[in-house]
Amino acid sequence: MVDRYLRWTRTGPGRFLTRRLGLPAPARLHRWSAERPTLEGGPLLHLTAGRSAYDTDALAAALDACGLVVRTGTGGARPSSTDTATPRESPESPVFPVSPESSATSAVLLDATGIRTIAELDEIHSALHPVLRDLSTNGRVVVLGSVPDPDDHHQAAAQQALEGFVRSLGKELGKGRTAQLVRLRPAAEAEAEPPTVVAEGTDGTDGVAEVEGATDARPAPAPTPVAVGGGATRTVRTGTVRLGVVPALDDPPAGPVVTPVTALPAPVAEPARATGGTDTAEALRSTFRFLLSPRSAYVSGQVITLDPALPTTGAGATGTDPHVPADPAHPLAGRTALVTGAARGIGATVARTLARDGAHVVLLDVPQSEPELSALAESLGGRALPLDITAPDAGDAIVAALPCDLDVLVHNAGITRDRRLVNMPADRWRPVLDVNLASVLRTTDHLLASGAVRAGGRVVATASIAGIAGNTGQTNYAASKAGVIGMVRSLAPRAAAEYGVTVNAVAPGFIETRMTAAIPLVIREAGRRMNSLSQGGLPEDVAETVAWFADPGSGAVNGQVVRVCGQSLLGA
Ligand code: NAD
Repeated sequence: MVDRYLRWTRTGPGRFLTRRLGLPAPARLHRWSAERPTLEGGPLLHLTAGRSAYDTDALAAALDACGLVVRTGTGGARPSSTDTATPRESPESPVFPVSPESSATSAVLLDATGIRTIAELDEIHSALHPVLRDLSTNGRVVVLGSVPDPDDHHQAAAQQALEGFVRSLGKELGKGRTAQLVRLRPAAEAEAEPPTVVAEGTDGTDGVAEVEGATDARPAPAPTPVAVGGGATRTVRTGTVRLGVVPALDDPPAGPVVTPVTALPAPVAEPARATGGTDTAEALRSTFRFLLSPRSAYVSGQVITLDPALPTTGAGATGTDPHVPADPAHPLAGRTALVTGAARGIGATVARTLARDGAHVVLLDVPQSEPELSALAESLGGRALPLDITAPDAGDAIVAALPCDLDVLVHNAGITRDRRLVNMPADRWRPVLDVNLASVLRTTDHLLASGAVRAGGRVVATASIAGIAGNTGQTNYAASKAGVIGMVRSLAPRAAAEYGVTVNAVAPGFIETRMTAAIPLVIREAGRRMNSLSQGGLPEDVAETVAWFADPGSGAVNGQVVRVCGQSLLGA
C-alpha cells in the first residue's frame, strides 16, 4: 500500500509546502537492514541521574549489544579526558567513526534507577536538556528506571513521573527520534523482598504469582557518586552487584518455590524446568539491542518492565550460556518457531524475520492460502501447515505437524468484520472473537499443557491499539484484542513459573497491510498521521518487536504489551 502523502513530502514542492503550511512532515525512518544494522550519527551517550541503583559496569556491558561506541557522558558536555570511562568499542559491529570534536549522539541512555525523590527529578532535566539538540535524526532516548515502590510513595511518585516525562518527550523529539522507559526491578528489591514475581502491564496492572522462600542476598558494594557536571552524576562501584536469582525449579527447597495462583491445565509430560534467572547485564542486553537500534524504528513512548529474576531463560539450544546466543547475528539458531496467519501481511514478515534470526519456521494459515503459504515456507527452508486455527482439533494437529518441540509460538492470525454494534449480526461478531481470541487461548493452553513448548520458550500474541483505545465499528475486534491483553497479563507470571515460558503481546497501530488498505480513505489517512512519527508502520516494525520477544536473551521480558504504533494518539 503506497502512502502518497509521505512520498509527496519528499519532493521539492512537498518539502516547501509542508514547511510553509505546518503540515506533518514524516521523517524517513532508518529501519534495520544488513547494510545499516546500527544507529548512525554518533556514539551512544551513557548518563546517570543521581545515584544509580545498579552497577554501572554491568549496565555498560549490556550496551555492547547495540554495536555503538559508548561514551559515559557529562550531561551535555563533550566526553572529556577527566571521564574515568574511556569510549568503548563494540566487538559485535562495525565501529561508527566519531570525531573527537563532534558532540552529535545517536542515542542517549539515561540511568534514572536511583531517583527516589521529586528533588532528584531535577537531575533528569540537567542530564538531558543539554544533549537533546545533538541527538541525530532517528536517534534514541532510553530512560532506565525502577519499578515504582508500593511501600514508598515518594519513590513511586518520582519513578512514575518518568513515565509522563518519557511519553511527552517521545511526542516532542520529531525527526524519527524515539523515547522509551525501561523499568528494572531493583537489585535490593529482588534480593531482600522475593515473595512475588511481578509482571507489570503498561497501565501498571500487576500479574502476580506467589513465591515462597528467599533469594540469596549479598550486600552490594557501596556506590560512590561522582559529580560530572550539569547536575548529573556517574556512579562508580568497585564490585559487581549480583541481582536476585531464582534457582532452577528442580533444585530442592533451599531456593524459592514458585506457586501459581491458579493452575494451568496439568502438563501431561514432565513439567519443563527452567535453568535460572539472568543478571542485570543479560536482562538488558536483548532489550538494548532492540530499543537502541534501527529495529525499533516505529516504537515510541513505551514503558517496558524487565524482571531479571524470572526463570524464563531456559536451556539454550545453542552455546553453553543460555542467555547469550552463540551467534549474536542469529539468536534463534537451532530453535523452532510457529507463526499463525503467516501466508501474508504481518505474519509473513514475522516468519521471514524469525528465519533471518536463524529459526526453523513453521507457517500456519487457512487451507485456502496453501499455494502462497507453501511457496513462502519453501523459500525460508521451513514448512507449511495449512490449518484453520479455529478448528476444534487445531492444537492436536499442530503438535502432530511439529518437527520438534517449539521454542517460539506467535499468534498472529486475525480478522476484522467491522460494523457498528447496532448493525452487527452475530455472524460478524462470533468469528472475530473466535479467530482473534478464543483460538489463541485454546492453542496456548493445549501447547503448554502438552509440553510442546520447551522451557525457555516464548509465546507472543498479537493485540492492537484498538484493544486499548477502542474504535468505532470495531466492538468485536477491540473486544478480542483487549482479551489478548488480559490473557497475556494473567498467564505471563504463571507460565514463567510453571513452564519457564514468557508470554508477551505486540499491539500494532496503523500498519500498511491488506487489512488497513481496506479502510476508507479519510480514516486511513487519519490513522497514518495521528502519531508522533506522522506515518504508518510496516510489517517489519511488528516483526522486529516479535523477534525481540522471541530472543533467547529476552527471559526478563514477560507480561509486556508493547505498542508498535509510532506513539499513536489513540489510546495513548
Ligand atoms: P492480514 O489480513 O493481512 O493477514 C492475516 C492472516 O491471518 C491471513 O493470512 C489470514 O488468512 C490468516 N487467518 C485468518 N483467519 C485464520 C484462521 N482461522 N486460521 C489461520 N489463519 C487465519 O492481516 P495483517 O494486517 O497482517 O494482521 C496480522 C495481525 O495483526 C492480526 O492479528 C491483526 O489483527 C493484527 N493487527 C494488524 C494491524 C494493521 O494495521 N495491519 C493493526 C493492529 C493489529
